[in-house]
This record gives sequence, C-alpha cells and structure tokens, in this order.
Amino acid sequence: MRREAGVVCALLLFTPSTALAASARGESGLLLPELRRVNVVPFEAKKNGRIGGYRLGQWPYERGRAPSAAYANPGGFMEVTRENRDLPISKHFVLGDFLTRDQAAVWPKYLLLDPRLVDKLELVIAELERGGRPIRHVTVMSGFRTPSYNGSGGNTSGRAALSRHMYGDATDVFVDDDRDGRPDDLNGDGRVDIRDAECFAAAAERVEARYPDLVGGVGVYPATAGHGPFTHVDVRGLRARWRE
Ligand SMILES: [Zn+2]
Repeated sequence: MRREAGVVCALLLFTPSTALAASARGESGLLLPELRRVNVVPFEAKKNGRIGGYRLGQWPYERGRAPSAAYANPGGFMEVTRENRDLPISKHFVLGDFLTRDQAAVWPKYLLLDPRLVDKLELVIAELERGGRPIRHVTVMSGFRTPSYNGSGGNTSGRAALSRHMYGDATDVFVDDDRDGRPDDLNGDGRVDIRDAECFAAAAERVEARYPDLVGGVGVYPATAGHGPFTHVDVRGLRARWRE
C-alpha cells in the first residue's frame, strides 16, 4: 500500500504552479527527479497523531475549517528513512536537513517540504554568491516542525501557534561553511551578529523581487544564549517581514 502511494509525486503535495519556474530554467539547484523518488504517505495514514511509531500530533484546523487553503491539512507526507535521509535534493541540501529535530531513534520519519522553499533557498545562496562570496554550506536550524514538536519542548524561539514550519514551507537558516553548527561571518565585518542574518534576509528580498511567485516571510533573529543569529525564510505566498 505504501509502495503504491509512492508513485504519487512528492511535488503534488503542494500546489503545482509556475512557482518552480526558476528550477525549470535551471537557475536554482533543485533536483526534482530526486524528490520524485521519495515515497509519499497520505495524511489519512496518521492515526491518533502518529504514523507507525512516529509522533506528529494534530494540525491546527484538522477538525475545523481552515481560514485559508494555506492552513488546510497537508495532503500527505514524504517518508524519510535511514537510507534516504542523505539524498541530495539540491546543490546545498539533503532531504534529512528539513526533518523535525526530535525522536532521534524512530524511523521512518515523516516530512512536509515544499519544493519552492528549497528553490528559494538555493536562489538566495546564488544571490549571495553573486556578491563574490562562495557558499559551501547552509545549516537548517529548523525546517519542518510537526505540530507535536512545535507546540512544546525544545527551543521555543520563533514559534507561533500557526507557524508555517508545520506546513513545510518555512525554514530557519544560517550560513555555516565550516559546518560547526554555528553561523559564520557572512557579511565579512569581522563579527557574527544580527547583521549577518540581515545580509541573508536582504538577499532573500532581492530574490523575491525577481521571482514574485516565491514571495513569503523573511524574519531576522538575533543571537541568544541558546543559538546564534539566524534568518527565517518561507514561501507562504504573502509578503511578511519581521525582526525579533
Ligand atoms: Zn522560522
């Protein structure tokens, strides 16, 4: 049954539209054939908040009427296994980068990931590189967050009751070329601070100007005791800007 569900293209979980125009033109590094190989499990496979041993919880409007299509229940989940978690899905990202950071021992895990988000991130990276700085690695501090994870526990910075992270089209990122899990000095001013997160946000702003179909939220967060500065990027379809 699950194998058959896998023929459903992961891309169809999200609105097919002109939004992937950038990747179609080869301007972003999104690897669509790789994404199409990922097994998809329908939303209805979730029973009592779980699929198998993996806990997801309840979506905000699971039992009511969503205020807009953007908050409707997802159509299904990508199934991430120990075997495919390192699958490259674009130039800088692998599938597992976007998983919720919990239930370390439970496999498979389930993921919502809007390909337009990866498309946008790669375009932002390309935009930064246009300025002359090669980007070797971007760390996804937080990608998809299950409602169960979003609602409790862990680091709660940047969490909202209706977080786009629960819908797979939002991410919190920072440039981390040396992969030490800490943000790098992106703008080259000799320090790591909110200006580096602003530098990433400014590149996202330029990408949205060129690709209005990738419009969404861009939020800038300063360092706290628990994490360094980071930038939230999403493709919610409406322009939103904030800083903490
Ligand atoms: Zn965020």
